[in-house]
Amino acid sequence: MREHDFSSGVKAEALKKANYRCERCWASKDLECHHVIPLEVGGQSTLDNCVVLCRHCHKIAPQDSFLFKHLFLRFASSKELISHYQVSTEEEAIHSFCLEMDIDFQGTLDKFWNDPVRM
Ligand SMILES: [Zn+2]
Repeated sequence: MREHDFSSGVKAEALKKANYRCERCWASKDLECHHVIPLEVGGQSTLDNCVVLCRHCHKIAPQDSFLFKHLFLRFASSKELISHYQVSTEEEAIHSFCLEMDIDFQGTLDKFWNDPVRM
């Protein structure tokens, strides 16, 4: 998949735009470029589709671009997510998120918890 990766020019632009920080948790070390819309579903290696993440956030980022943008990028940790919705578990927080976004809870949970590594 190497040949579909971001070019060094796009990476440099993205890093500059992000102020050389992870766009989720603001870490400044081990920065990588993430495809918001994965290549497998037609995402392009363009600046528009590029978000700068630290290695940790990159590893746990959900593949689903809606969840990535509206849930993953918005809350830098489970703690932030839970306290934002004033609930006590991550599952309840995702439930509140789904109500707010008017999307299917079970499907969202499956997509979000697809990943073995948690937020
Ligand atoms: Zn990060």
